[in-house]
Amino acid sequence: MMTEKKFKINFTESNVQDSVAYILVSEFDLRPNILKAEISGDGSGVMILSLVGDEEKLVKAEERLEEAGFDIKELEKRIHRDECLCWNCGACTSICPTGCISMDPKTFLINFDDSKCIACGACLNSCAVHALGLHI
Ligand code: SF4
Ligand code: SF4
Repeated sequence: MMTEKKFKINFTESNVQDSVAYILVSEFDLRPNILKAEISGDGSGVMILSLVGDEEKLVKAEERLEEAGFDIKELEKRIHRDECLCWNCGACTSICPTGCISMDPKTFLINFDDSKCIACGACLNSCAVHALGLHI
């Protein structure tokens, strides 16, 4: 069964030369899409990766990358909004790079589509009442 999972992968200078995408495509026939990547000056970094493919192969690919020395963690739960705290001010809507936060033009209420969330954390500081939390 085809499914999509998102992963956070930390890599170091020692394994940055290994191509994550090559392993995933050539060995597991998965479709990788890098949603976000940051590399620091020392060659280490982090990427948020979306993977589409056979569910069993996704599990094996995660194990394979762990064996290759990557620190990999599935992003299961993403952004959380506390509806009791949120007063629908809209301040967070323009921040999100993937458009998962929007305001309904009729009701002026906030909509979240967390399937698009890449766990970048950009929205967290936009909320004055701390209604947003990120679980990665
Ligand atoms: S964590 Fe990033 S992608 Fe997710 S809702 Fe916030 S700004 Fe959007
Ligand atoms: S910034 Fe905070 S209070 Fe305003 S809409 Fe977003 S989550 Fe709600």
